Amino acid sequence: MADLDNFRAEVGEWLDANAPQSLRGVQVTAERGGTWGGRRATFEPPDMKPWLQMCIEKGWTAPSWPSEYGGGGLSSEAAKLLAGEMRKRRLPPPLTGFGLSMIGPTLLRYGTEEQKQQHIRKIVRGEIRWCQGYSEPDAGSDLASIQTRAVRDGDDFILNGQKVWTSYGDLSDWIFALVRTDPKVKKQEGITFILIDMETPGVSVRPIKLISGKSPFCETYFDDVRVPVKNVIAEINGGWTVAKALLRDERSMIADVFGSVADTGKQRKPGSMLANLARQYLGGADGTMLSDPVLRDEIARCELDDKAFALTVQRTRDAAKAGHQSGPESSIFKVYATELNKRRSELMVDIAGPEGLGWEGTGFDKDELARTRGWLRARGNSIEGGTSEVQLNIIAKHVLGLPD
Ligand SMILES: Cc1cc2nc3c(=O)[nH]c(=O)nc-3n(C[C@H](O)[C@H](O)[C@H](O)COP(=O)(O)OP(=O)(O)OC[C@H]3O[C@@H](n4cnc5c(N)ncnc54)[C@H](O)[C@@H]3O)c2cc1C
Repeated sequence: MADLDNFRAEVGEWLDANAPQSLRGVQVTAERGGTWGGRRATFEPPDMKPWLQMCIEKGWTAPSWPSEYGGGGLSSEAAKLLAGEMRKRRLPPPLTGFGLSMIGPTLLRYGTEEQKQQHIRKIVRGEIRWCQGYSEPDAGSDLASIQTRAVRDGDDFILNGQKVWTSYGDLSDWIFALVRTDPKVKKQEGITFILIDMETPGVSVRPIKLISGKSPFCETYFDDVRVPVKNVIAEINGGWTVAKALLRDERSMIADVFGSVADTGKQRKPGSMLANLARQYLGGADGTMLSDPVLRDEIARCELDDKAFALTVQRTRDAAKAGHQSGPESSIFKVYATELNKRRSELMVDIAGPEGLGWEGTGFDKDELARTRGWLRARGNSIEGGTSEVQLNIIAKHVLGLPD
């Protein structure tokens, strides 16, 4: 305990002395800011660059990963303290992305020593950016129906097929993908999990334009792509187990994001974020009661649910002492977090009224534009990593034990 107190004090002192002041309050979302690393890394705002470098040196981009691969080697309690101290100072994470949140934990669990040596340090240092090649035109919720073929040829597989909705595929260096290595067996039993360098001849990426004119989504094509067999994670035809474990991490990560959004709410003063927004748009001096009782009720419910959810996430993190081993329960968190986030963002748009529907132009301020986009983006959260309906099916079957 005294050790943890000392650690907290040391971390606080170090952050006060070293973390760039300019980064305080910088928000990193899937769409904006932060450092996602990779060969084409950008740093937004620019001070993210020295911030990343100093955190790499301390192992703080992946605080609880083993130090032999460049992680911080911290216990889960110490890593939690570090995150708390950063949050207290409103500092953004030094590095973000699918390397840290998805493929890194999968490699630590299922990778060979050679695979860990090849990839983990690069993930920790933000040198390689990863994307996820799961979904295909006819395989989304029914993911086990993937058709991208991988045919063995000596020490390689030859890949042919198409992935879709590959977020940031055009900015990524490597992709982790599910491919079909045996079409004759039960569909789950013929899938292999494989890592592919996006610069391999035959890999091509086409960005998908949405009605807004842009999107993070891409289509990824494989035309006779030669991939070494040594890039397979776990067993050939054993990819379904790895794929499900990664999805559980992905769902926990999505839930954690909203858990900690709610968590930081306790530092906002005075009052709650939603109530303050209501005062800003609907009048009333700070501290006075909102006149609309229905809105008051909706805000109070949402804030209470936020708070209860943040505490539940925290309790679960505390319980998961060794690593982040999430089971099918991660579906409960995913569905609750993303549905709550939809409610919250819908309420924010409601409160702002006509100012809540700005898309572009000078008639709206930066926060208003971000709010509209956040409201629409919230719908995507309840689809990515498996839709809410699919999570409810998993909960019914694997948590509650209900029949099919
Ligand atoms: C923001 C975002 C980012 C994404 N990023 C990636 C990525 O990086 N890589 C990647 O591989 N994929 C990515 N995806 C794709 C995502 O995984 C799929 O969209 C998702 O799994 C749903 O598949 P689908 O779109 O094919 O919908 P479908 O599976 O066709 O589902 C359509 C509708 O039917 C419902 N439905 C389907 N089956 C059932 C069932 N058995 N019971 C009840 N309802 C059902 C669904 O809930 C949904 O409402 C992303 C998606 C989004 C929105």
